[in-house]
Amino acid sequence: MRGGASYPLVMDLDFSEDEIRRYSRHILLQDVGGIGQARLKAARVLVVGAGGLGSPLVLYLAAAGVGTIGLVDHDRLELSNLQRQIAHTTDRIGQPKAVSAAQTALAINPEVHIEPYDLRLDADNATDLIGRYDIVCDGTDNFATRFLVADACVLARRTLVSAAVLRFEGQLSVFKPYIEGPCYRCLYPEAPPEGVVPTCSEAGVLGAVTGVMGTLQATETLKEILGIGESLAGKLLIWDALATRFRTVRLRPDPNCALCSPAATIRDLSQHRHAVAACAG
Ligand SMILES: [Zn+2]
Repeated sequence: MRGGASYPLVMDLDFSEDEIRRYSRHILLQDVGGIGQARLKAARVLVVGAGGLGSPLVLYLAAAGVGTIGLVDHDRLELSNLQRQIAHTTDRIGQPKAVSAAQTALAINPEVHIEPYDLRLDADNATDLIGRYDIVCDGTDNFATRFLVADACVLARRTLVSAAVLRFEGQLSVFKPYIEGPCYRCLYPEAPPEGVVPTCSEAGVLGAVTGVMGTLQATETLKEILGIGESLAGKLLIWDALATRFRTVRLRPDPNCALCSPAATIRDLSQHRHAVAACAG
């Protein structure tokens, strides 16, 4: 695979007739084809957060035939989630979001394995959970979980596809410093003090903005699995929905980064051992 990522190479090319029909629009694509579809089937992706970003993300990954999708979220579905979190339905209010989103994804594609984790990602379980997957998608809405996921991904050498939304804006990047480009901490060395940067639950977000960003996140994840196109590693995509403007800025590795540089001081997740207040935007 391009970029030297260590994705599984044991691929099952034996698709059923239904699978060939289901994935026919992928198989028609020269850059995907049967081999690419087999790569998707062999891939294992962990989605952190079954909220505004995680909803379109898990639905498109499942529809695309990503063989194993983990989905971690400890929240219960609330009425105020339904304005943007389209993997859920009104009759499931009060249910675990990981279970609800898994149910919707499986209704779209029962050929894939969805592994819902109704738990809070923390310093004790992150290494094990992230280590079970090839690629991690962060769709959470708080810095404590973002930094935990970013640190765990670098320590476990896992590609991180990271998206964020607020009000009418979205950001997206791919972090795989062990192959190319910076890590999340090269960009943001420390979490801002609590209350400085508002979350969606404090400042609001246009529902469709999370849908666009979660769908872009799914697209970049599929590109990383397939090894096609230009990776977003080393670049940050910024979308201003009100101005209808996308721009991409180049990101450089920080030569003194505490996480990914030769002088790294972060060697485990012990600094995250206080409570992580996880919520999913
Ligand atoms: Zn770094």
